[in-house]
Amino acid sequence: MFEKTISFAKAMGCCNCFGFIRRRSRRRAKPAVNNNDHDLSQELLLDDDTDDDEERFYANALSGDGSEVQNRPKRSEDILNTRVENGLICRQFPVKETDVVFRSEDEDGNKMINEYIREYKIGSGSYGKVALYRSSLDGKHYAIKSFNKSHLRKLRVAPSETAMTDVLREVFIMKMLQHPNIVNLIEVIDDPESDNFYMVLEYVEGKWVCEGSGPTCGLGEETARRYLRDIVSGLRYLHAHNIVHGDIKPDNLLITRHGTVKIGDFSVSQAFEDNNDVLRRSPGTPVFTAPECILDITYHGKAADTWAVGVTLYCMIVGEYPFLGDTLQDTYDKIVNNPIELPNDMNPQLKKLIEGLLFKDPTLRMTLSDVAVDSWVIGDDGPIPEYLCWCKRKNMEGEYNVESKILA
Ligand code: ADP
Ligand code: MG
Repeated sequence: MFEKTISFAKAMGCCNCFGFIRRRSRRRAKPAVNNNDHDLSQELLLDDDTDDDEERFYANALSGDGSEVQNRPKRSEDILNTRVENGLICRQFPVKETDVVFRSEDEDGNKMINEYIREYKIGSGSYGKVALYRSSLDGKHYAIKSFNKSHLRKLRVAPSETAMTDVLREVFIMKMLQHPNIVNLIEVIDDPESDNFYMVLEYVEGKWVCEGSGPTCGLGEETARRYLRDIVSGLRYLHAHNIVHGDIKPDNLLITRHGTVKIGDFSVSQAFEDNNDVLRRSPGTPVFTAPECILDITYHGKAADTWAVGVTLYCMIVGEYPFLGDTLQDTYDKIVNNPIELPNDMNPQLKKLIEGLLFKDPTLRMTLSDVAVDSWVIGDDGPIPEYLCWCKRKNMEGEYNVESKILA
């Protein structure tokens, strides 16, 4: 499998190592979780129009002659399946997969799942709960996201799909990737005999939340710069591996005790092929939604992620959302029409960066590569380096081995 990974990676160049044929993708909003009063509910995005439109899109793709059938966009799930089948995984060690669940209690009456002892709940998501556990084997803390399979199967998120598809896609994506600024998936526990399904994640103890509660919520330039560098580093890695995150926002950016940002929550992420990141439908959370997602049926996922980074940076500095209305429509109108307003006394370099990230026209918006060399981002640390990921390292080793064989 290893040789296979290298030869694929070599054939396509590292950053295209997950590239196949051209595709168009689709996406949808997931049901609402209201864990932040200032986040406009995603529920509002789940209107009937979304499904009808999506249905029509697929019906059109399937109708007519064979060429249209051939042009049918590949779903993220199919792309991810192909990648996994071909061993295109950017991880040194695969995620542990466990197919038995033992539910028990320790001597203090704490609930246990296999070797993990439950401590307390740390979050609740749209589809499942997140709780802190401690492993009785290594004594370390883990965040376990648990789901009820029959509930997921009943929860319709698109005409022919249930929430199970979303969760499996999230797992697939996390199984393929490893990066210091991305929450690491350690183990998947899925017992066919049980109704429960668990994702064991590295535990990230801190969390920065943009409550939109006024300037006091601002983080200050130094912290914001450090956080932004981490976010951009993780997101560039995702994009280079043809994944669009789709829901970048403070809630999904976890902070370690050493102040490193880890991107989490891949529940609305999508995979794309061949560098063609065109997606359908509006992603994520309304206040972080890019104008083109509101205006157009298709949009470029990478540029939309970049807009969300701009909104996040604005939140980090100003402590408020840049575009927030009293209603969903009002918020959307502001995102599309209102110019960005920044405090007069803001550092001009930072002002230029925020304006560049929040450019309404996605073709004129800064890219993450631009951000990596931006003067405010550079600060005293230099440009954000490109991460030498596992598949890139293997690719380079492969080239080195071929060269040494030729020279020998
Ligand atoms: P959802 O898709 O439901 O938003 P998330 O993955 O964002 O699910 O998890 C919900 C919440 O659980 C997060 O906002 C965070 O507070 C907490 N959480 C998730 N993963 C971790 C983790 N690895 N470490 C610590 N807390 C986490
Ligand atoms: Mg989340």
